[in-house]
Amino acid sequence: MTPFADKVVLITGGTAGIGRATALAFARAGAAVVVAGRRAAEGAAAVAEMETAGGRGRFVRADVAEEADIARLVEDTLKIYGRLDFAFNNAGIHLEHGPITTLTSDVLQRTLAVNVGGVALCLKHQIPALLASGGGVIVNNASILGLRPLPNCAVYNASKAAVISLSRSAALENARAGLRINTVCPAVIETDMTAALRDSSDLRAQLLALHPLGRFGTAEEVAGAVLYLCSPAAAYATGVNLTVDGGYGI
Ligand code: NAD
Repeated sequence: MTPFADKVVLITGGTAGIGRATALAFARAGAAVVVAGRRAAEGAAAVAEMETAGGRGRFVRADVAEEADIARLVEDTLKIYGRLDFAFNNAGIHLEHGPITTLTSDVLQRTLAVNVGGVALCLKHQIPALLASGGGVIVNNASILGLRPLPNCAVYNASKAAVISLSRSAALENARAGLRINTVCPAVIETDMTAALRDSSDLRAQLLALHPLGRFGTAEEVAGAVLYLCSPAAAYATGVNLTVDGGYGI
């Protein structure tokens, strides 16, 4: 089944983890996928994976902390595929593992530049392209920590709360134009970002206890939520924060 045939999707941070799993899911569902990231070898591997699955994809190098890269990414997407129907603003970083009293200026600035600035500037450049293509859907990758913070990563928590707020503001601004904008809010997902936490003998049991389903999530489970939000089944959903969290937020 190819429910996204003839659709074009742009995914930031698509070279690994949740972004890569979502790229593959969209490709399998018939969409043409532009995978954006900083690492060409991983980008080529993501494209090869989509092609092996019978899909279409291209890698475009872009650092979401650089507005010029984002502008060029959207331009390149339009040049390659002629339109833009969906965007998944997924690129993000988690640099802190300690109380706010240990925060450094570098970590503060880098986290805000990538997690908040990256999403804000992607919205700025993607929205006109989506509107010119007749509307569409943007999904931003926030986190359950944007709704229910954990200690020892205050700036990450705040950056994800900002993603939720940016999404709701942009959803209001663009609702009448036929553009829906939502977030996914995952809890702990089995990707490189959480490998050290999940492997820590001290933390693993504590973290698992926060998830009523009794396990961590998979990147494919977040991808499923993103495809749902982009599908006609979610046609009346905008400004929504879809938790994909094994019950963490209950
Ligand atoms: P990951 O580290 O496996 O992947 C992150 C991707 O973003 C990588 O491809 C990385 O290269 C890319 N990226 C980072 N900085 C970038 C930049 N400046 N420009 C372009 N690309 C950049 O992590 P993941 O778990 O797949 O995380 C994806 C998103 O999901 C992040 O926004 C993260 O905050 C969010 N999230 C993850 C979890 C989790 O438990 N893994 C939970 C909630 C939210």
